[in-house]
Amino acid sequence: MTEHVDGQLAFDFDEMAREEARARLDEWDGAPLGFTRDYFTPAQFDEAFEHWKFLNGPLGSWKRSHMWHREGWNGMGTEFGQHRGEIFGADLDPDDGQEGPGGQLTQMICEPCDWHVITEDDNTAVEAWHDHAVPGWRDLPVVPAAIRLRDGGASLSKLAMTWITERYPEHIQVPGAPIITERSPYGTRHVHHYSPWGGYDLSHTALERPAAPEPPARVPRRELPAFTPASPGRQTRPTGPGLAR
Ligand SMILES: [Zn+2]
Repeated sequence: MTEHVDGQLAFDFDEMAREEARARLDEWDGAPLGFTRDYFTPAQFDEAFEHWKFLNGPLGSWKRSHMWHREGWNGMGTEFGQHRGEIFGADLDPDDGQEGPGGQLTQMICEPCDWHVITEDDNTAVEAWHDHAVPGWRDLPVVPAAIRLRDGGASLSKLAMTWITERYPEHIQVPGAPIITERSPYGTRHVHHYSPWGGYDLSHTALERPAAPEPPARVPRRELPAFTPASPGRQTRPTGPGLAR
C-alpha cells in the first residue's frame, strides 16, 4: 500500500469505514433510513439522512433515499413563542424504471410540542403550523398588493412598515409572527423570514376570504350591483355542468 499516494490511502480508509457501517446497519437506532410517516425530531431526521449519504453517497440522495431532508431555502425554522416550526421535504418519485407512489411531500415539525404534519405541498404544511402555533392568524389584515413591500432590499419599505404596524394587533408584532400579503396569481408561495419580525410572509390565497374586502374607493356605491342573497343550500354546491348529478 505504501506506493499509493496519500489521497488514495484516504479514500480506502473512507471506504473501509463505509463497509463497516454497512455491516452494522442492524445496530442503527435513529430515524429510519428511508421514508416514514412517524414522528421524529428534526435532529433525528438530519442525523439519519447524513448517515444514509455516508453509506450510499450524496449524489441524487433526495430521490434515491426518499428520506426527509431540508431544502436549502427552508433554513433552520421559525420560532414563535414556545413553538419552532421546521420544514422538511421527501421525494417519493420512484427510481427510473420502477413503479411507485410518486410526488413530493412536505412535513412541518414543531419539536417543542412533539407536533408534526405531513402534506402534499409546502403551503398547506406552513398553514397547518400557523394554525397550531399562531391562533387567530387567519384574521390578520391582508397587506394590499398596492403597498410595495420592498424597494429591492431585504428589509420592508417604510410605507409597508407603517401600514402593517398601524393595523396589526400589537400582541402579534413579536418575533416569528407572520404577515399576510396580497399576491399575483403566480406568486402564492409562503416565504419564510419575510415578515418584519422574521416570520412567514403568507400569501392571501391561504385564506377563504377575498384579499381586498372593501370595494375600490373610486367606484361610487350606487354603481355596485345590488346584493342578491344566494338561495340557502346552493351556496357551497358546485354549479359547473360537469359536476351536475
Ligand atoms: Zn408547537
